Amino acid sequence: MAFPAGDSKFLPAEIVEVIVQEVLGRSQPRAFSSIAALSLVSRQVRHIALRAYFSKLSVHRLIRASRINDIRNICSWVRHLSTTIQIVEKNVFPLYKMNLGSLELDCESVPAFSLAASILLVFPHFPETLVSLKLTSLPRITHLLLEEIARRCLNLRELELSVVQRLSTDCCWACFEDLSCCIEHSPVGSDPSSNTVGKLAMLYAGYLQSLVKLQCLSMGVFLSSPTILKDHIDNHSLVREDNQFIGCTSDDSFSAPHTPTIDGQEGRPRVRLYRKSAGGDIAIPEKGAVIGCRPYTPSECALCWEAHGLRTREDELMAAMRLAQDLRSLELVRWSSWFNSKIAPGWLDPSPMNDRVVKDRSGVADLRHGQWATFEIQRGERRIKVWRRT
Ligand SMILES: [Zn+2]
Ligand SMILES: [Zn+2]
Repeated sequence: MAFPAGDSKFLPAEIVEVIVQEVLGRSQPRAFSSIAALSLVSRQVRHIALRAYFSKLSVHRLIRASRINDIRNICSWVRHLSTTIQIVEKNVFPLYKMNLGSLELDCESVPAFSLAASILLVFPHFPETLVSLKLTSLPRITHLLLEEIARRCLNLRELELSVVQRLSTDCCWACFEDLSCCIEHSPVGSDPSSNTVGKLAMLYAGYLQSLVKLQCLSMGVFLSSPTILKDHIDNHSLVREDNQFIGCTSDDSFSAPHTPTIDGQEGRPRVRLYRKSAGGDIAIPEKGAVIGCRPYTPSECALCWEAHGLRTREDELMAAMRLAQDLRSLELVRWSSWFNSKIAPGWLDPSPMNDRVVKDRSGVADLRHGQWATFEIQRGERRIKVWRRT
């Protein structure tokens, strides 16, 4: 079988391309071997198969990115790129030359202090063709970041900026606390221009005004107060462990702010109680080996739900409405939320020693996926309607 160009007896290249995409679309994840048979048909089909295969590229290791970039013409084939900000900083791919429709950057390697430098380094390379931009595992969402997006990505229809993936409950309470201190997961009150939920929403809307095509906006931060997580960790990490502090290692360790204060009071390292059992030293268990030592989030805590759940859900709805009013093309808004479960707070047992929500794991927080509260926007002639979908 061959497909010479211009010969009417054979299928047009466009039809062949659709067939190839159909064939590749069925194999997930797509192994490179999936195009082996196609590449043997003819030079033209091989070219179409390679173009279809590399139209979606996901590469998160620098060495692999360098090797892939050696493939001739690959930059003209990629339409959806998922990679890390580190790879973009190293200029492995000439982004500005690519016809990218969507770009997803994992920013986990960027410490908070160098976020501004990274933004100034990578944003000038972004192509104008982008309609979807996703930055995950950010240390915080800064004014500079919003400014650069509004200035350079004018065709965006979808924008996702997310911080909460950096929080993880995979280890112990101490690690959970350390992670929460290194990022700005709950920006309300972080500065005077955003000291209320309404002001924060208006601030975001103000920066993003120039994105007149923006339909879906996902902000991966919590609109609840940052003290919710802090109090949750302070109040519950010891209750469940009967005042034993169980860490992931047996070393002597504590956490503290980078800069000590002069009087030594505020910002003083917080030392936890460590009570030994009557039988002698408590053996430090393996990670997560003891039931109850694994940290859990306010989403899974009846006391947090009761104290903050309803108020936070109202704030999220109000903030979504603010964005809908200011950004006229918006159809969908998402916030990260501790209180996004469909389970009603009234079902929970709020007793202090039984403060963890006993429920189906399907309702448990999954911070790696943003833990989204989703709001749909419907626009009439004179009114806007916003309602919570999750
Ligand atoms: Zn709690
Ligand atoms: Zn740990």
